[in-house]
Amino acid sequence: MSNLTKTFGSMVFNDAVMKERLPRETYKALKKTINEGRALDLDVANVVANAMKDWAVEHGVTHYTHWFQPMTGITAEKHDGFMTTRDDGIIMEFSGKELIKGEPDASSFPSGGLRATFEARGYTTWDPTSYAFIKEGVLCIPTAFCSYGGEALDKKTPLLRSMQVISAQALRIVKCFGMDDVTSVTTTVGPEQEYFLVDTELVKKRKDLMFTGRTLFGARSPKGQELEDHYFGSIKPRVKAFMTELDDELYKLGIPAKTEHNEAAPAQHELAPIYEVTNVATDHNQLTMDLMKKVALRHGLTCLLHEKPFAGVNGSGKHNNWSLATNTGVNLLDPGKRPEENTRFLLFIAAVAEAVDMFQGLLRVTVASAGNDHRLGANEAPPAIVSIFLGSEITAILEAIESGSEYKRHTSHDMDMGVAVLPHFAQDTADRNRTSPLAFTGNKFEFRMVGSAFSVAEPNIIINTIVADVLEKYADILEQAEDVEKAALEIIRNTIRTHKRIIFNGNNYSDEWVEEAKQRGLLNLRSTPEALEYYVTPNNISVFVRHGIFTEAEVRSRYEILMENYSKVLSIEAMTMLEMAKREIMPAVSSYLKELSQELSLKKSVCPDADDTAETALIMKISALLGSMYKKTCLLDEAVINSKACKGAGELAHYYHDSIFSAMQELRAVADELELICAEKYWPFPTYGELLFSV
Ligand code: ADP
Ligand code: MG
Repeated sequence: MSNLTKTFGSMVFNDAVMKERLPRETYKALKKTINEGRALDLDVANVVANAMKDWAVEHGVTHYTHWFQPMTGITAEKHDGFMTTRDDGIIMEFSGKELIKGEPDASSFPSGGLRATFEARGYTTWDPTSYAFIKEGVLCIPTAFCSYGGEALDKKTPLLRSMQVISAQALRIVKCFGMDDVTSVTTTVGPEQEYFLVDTELVKKRKDLMFTGRTLFGARSPKGQELEDHYFGSIKPRVKAFMTELDDELYKLGIPAKTEHNEAAPAQHELAPIYEVTNVATDHNQLTMDLMKKVALRHGLTCLLHEKPFAGVNGSGKHNNWSLATNTGVNLLDPGKRPEENTRFLLFIAAVAEAVDMFQGLLRVTVASAGNDHRLGANEAPPAIVSIFLGSEITAILEAIESGSEYKRHTSHDMDMGVAVLPHFAQDTADRNRTSPLAFTGNKFEFRMVGSAFSVAEPNIIINTIVADVLEKYADILEQAEDVEKAALEIIRNTIRTHKRIIFNGNNYSDEWVEEAKQRGLLNLRSTPEALEYYVTPNNISVFVRHGIFTEAEVRSRYEILMENYSKVLSIEAMTMLEMAKREIMPAVSSYLKELSQELSLKKSVCPDADDTAETALIMKISALLGSMYKKTCLLDEAVINSKACKGAGELAHYYHDSIFSAMQELRAVADELELICAEKYWPFPTYGELLFSV
């Protein structure tokens, strides 16, 4: 740990390495590309590629890969050797062309109908704003991925497009406020990552965890999270060893992992990095998830990134902390000491509020998945209703602007805990709200609806685009205004008037909020298929097309992919349940019944008057439940077969949600009841108690 300053970024071809290894002119040209978004020239690429290869070879590397993020939600890589044969042996070569462009076969990645299978060609292109790095002995080059026709087949391309768009619009705004030295604005992201760690030996005994990453059966264990003794609790040695090794790996890749702690549920933990520019933060979060799984295995542990691995205890999310920073180092969401006088800040807050209200459906789309459906709407994560928390201070300022009244500042007072020796400190002007889907937390927005398994690319594509859309409208007005301050206050006033329904500072988990949100006309999209329909409404397609984020065909292809993915996930879950029910649970319960029956007849033959209440009652109860379980299994079987009649990805996803998901829940309910009365030695796989408390 002491040589962290040395190891940090040691496997990254970062700015320091480039400065040291590239000729001055090449370095300057590359920096221009990175900072000003200029296209890269091939001569420069050749020199960079050669330097990159030499650096990699010195680290024992023989292969490189274009590392990209197809629509599967995970990353893809195909390793190629640097090796070229010559008459006199082999040499290691890497050209600028190979660095900037790859041609992987695109036919086996999801394209949502954008590309027919016979049109296999796809391209990957280097994203020079995210550094190349060495992972597991391979030089990885972060790239964007598109089809032969130029349509985006990945998550990075639209993310980069959205960053460009918001930068341009935010720049127009800050210029109006006289920030003449600013030349670009970037969005920053810090994704807090939750996960579970479970003993791999136990995982191997459960087909549901193996195939789906979550438990499809399982009665609750006698102890869960009710004592609240795990959250921030002392970290167990095996988990600590995992975290230390993970940190080492992350540091080598220049990933600034900073905070780690136990989360609310038993076996649940969290890692938070220091925030970075959005596309780098996204790449780093993908790498973090990848490494979490791999490092866990070295410790005999399995890292579960699923949003809801266990019923009855908290699921896992990913808090997407988001802000805007100028290249001069100003955080545009920093209120400063006197927010009521900081019109520029208030204007950006108003823009976010308006964007969220206008595009609630799209924000919900970015967090929609079969896994995340278990969290959103359940009583633990922000519900499916999108709203924004601004805290009492900012809300009061905005309300004062709206009504034209004077804002009365609440002076923050010193905290005095009644113990002389404890230091006194100023109380924050607003409390935290842990229930809001999108909370302003002092100098950034925290979007809490994101699921733990998600790439943060999608939420940020949407946030960037919708905020840029509103900023553009504001900039059009401000650029024409004689008095910018006055015009900005007018914009804020109008925005609050029109969009204040989206601001909610209360408890988002309460039933009253669901009712109130309905009165306010806010959307409440409870399931993925319902939410995804909002991807393709005319208004939402239009915002993407207007800003060049997606073409209409690209949006529709994403809708198809996500709908299909939902049905596929549920199909795998249903098939896994059927297999576990038919081949494991029911045979196990039958064996227990057989033992009970044999015991009963033995007892009767030895002593006909003996008390047989327990055996008889158990046999009756278990037989009834087993019969019921058999019926539920048949119903699920039938529901799966009937899905064949559905036409189109949308119809199928709705069918899976309405018919198959409910059949799965019913089957689980009987099986879980049986688990609680079946003798332990017969139960075919580890229980919740073992899974949650074994590490
Ligand atoms: P909290 O404890 O309120 O959640 P922290 O300050 O611990 O807040 O930060 C949580 C996450 O937010 C961290 O990943 C942090 O790097 C990130 N973060 C902080 N400031 C910003 C910012 N300006 N932009 C984006 N993310 C940020
Ligand atoms: Mg947080």
